[in-house]
Amino acid sequence: MRYFLGIIGGGPAGYTAAEKASKAGQSVVLFEQNALGGTCLNVGCIPTKTLLYSAKQYYNATHADKYGVAAEQVSFDYVKMQQRKTKVVRKLVAGIKAKLNNEFCTVVNGFATVTPSSSEGVWQCLCNDEAYECENILICTGSTNFVPPIPGIQDNPCVWDSTAALDAKELPASVAIVGGGVIGMEFATLYHELGISVTVIEAMPTILPNLDQEVVTILRDKYEKAGIRILTNTKVSRLDNGVVTCDTAEGTLTIEADKVLVSVGRRANIKGLEALTELEYNRGAIVVDDFMRTNLPNVYAAGDVTGKIMLAHVAARQAEVAVCRMLKQIPLQRIAYNAIPSVVYTNPEIASVGITENEMDCEVHRLPMTFSGRFVAENEGETGLCKMLIDKKTHSVMGVHMIGNPCSEFIAAASFAVRMGYTVAEFQQVVFPHPTVSEILKEVL
Ligand code: NAD
Repeated sequence: MRYFLGIIGGGPAGYTAAEKASKAGQSVVLFEQNALGGTCLNVGCIPTKTLLYSAKQYYNATHADKYGVAAEQVSFDYVKMQQRKTKVVRKLVAGIKAKLNNEFCTVVNGFATVTPSSSEGVWQCLCNDEAYECENILICTGSTNFVPPIPGIQDNPCVWDSTAALDAKELPASVAIVGGGVIGMEFATLYHELGISVTVIEAMPTILPNLDQEVVTILRDKYEKAGIRILTNTKVSRLDNGVVTCDTAEGTLTIEADKVLVSVGRRANIKGLEALTELEYNRGAIVVDDFMRTNLPNVYAAGDVTGKIMLAHVAARQAEVAVCRMLKQIPLQRIAYNAIPSVVYTNPEIASVGITENEMDCEVHRLPMTFSGRFVAENEGETGLCKMLIDKKTHSVMGVHMIGNPCSEFIAAASFAVRMGYTVAEFQQVVFPHPTVSEILKEVL
């Protein structure tokens, strides 16, 4: 059978592309070896946010007195939290299945490989001993947790990656987290809010090194005061079960924990592409242009496998751009990497978009979140921060960085301003509903 598009991988990039191309009436075959939804839905964004929400309910209940509420003998059941997580994931996976259930889309469950076909200008996907001819290929095979070469890490029963941590039926009494990046800090939040002793070990001078450091400092101060141990400039040199040996400027340090969660980044999945011998890679990720084209004709890639920005919403947008290019839809779209929002689901949340201060000499506006009435009403004892970065010459909004709940819910308004190149004068004409925390975006100017 011959298809317009063969998609390898059913994560946010894969299912978005399948939906878009099949809705346009093109025949699509999508190959997925596990469940539809990929890392994000099955072992990433959605399960972590579900568990984090349960943990936040428990944490808020145990800290309810500051809102005039007495909650006594509050407890939690981690097995029930896990069961709810499974239910949420199943529901969303079913939703994706339903979206792809149309006459133009075929979903094949299995591991696919791609090869050049004997027919000119067509690629062949092989899966479960069947061959599928495809005019276009979209590779969206995602990424896997990186295992650093630390002595004692392999086959260590105390070591978890994020997938194992999400799957655990029981909570440990203490956790050492290697890597203070996004995954590390979200799991630190989860475990801390459930009353577990947490140590974060980060090799760089700061946790969340890619984010606005003023915002990160607020988080770090709060977490350290709350009892999370955060070690920066600290490199793990070996692991012996739960004993973590680290090198610091002051010498060797030993930390003991029931479990060691290793979250030091992810690497592109390129298995199954071996027959594409000419395919170009850079540092293990597939090289793509602005239209998500690889160097091979009619072969596209989207999502984590491109090694650009490993976020589900980037993957989905890249997939839209790729399909738009395949369908030759005019005007051809490109992805605006300068306006990608990102959120770290700590408590308080961090949300950002656009440039950071060290990338450009810009005008910086800053204001505590407490200038929002709704924030004060709902965030007892918190200060938060909103920063807006303005181009000194054009007066356009270049970046926004926030800490304070629920900034994840309105960072999209800032993304919109950055994407559309709004000037301060234009942005000030936007009306924000009162009372909402989003008003801070206007107050800050
Ligand atoms: P990351 O790159 O965000 O952080 C890894 C951290 O580990 C870095 O701070 C790095 O300096 C540190 N590190 C590296 N080697 C180390 C070592 N040997 N010892 C100590 N520290 C070390 O990677 P991640 O947290 O694993 O996340 C993987 C990807 O998933 C990222 O691209 C992230 O953006 C994405 N993700 C996003 C979200 C979200 O959007 N909320 C949530 C989870 C994951």
